[in-house]
Amino acid sequence: MAIDPICKMDVDEATAKFTSEYKGKTYYFCAPGCKKEFDGNPDKYL
Ligand SMILES: [Zn+2]
Repeated sequence: MAIDPICKMDVDEATAKFTSEYKGKTYYFCAPGCKKEFDGNPDKYL
């Protein structure tokens, strides 16, 4: 399981629909809103 950096929920990498690549690492999100938030300001959440 990966952890959604926005809301800290567990996200299954195998079924995750919302992902982002940032600085060579893949991040997984539970929902499009979390991905959008991360994409807008990734450094805030790392
Ligand atoms: Zn989330």
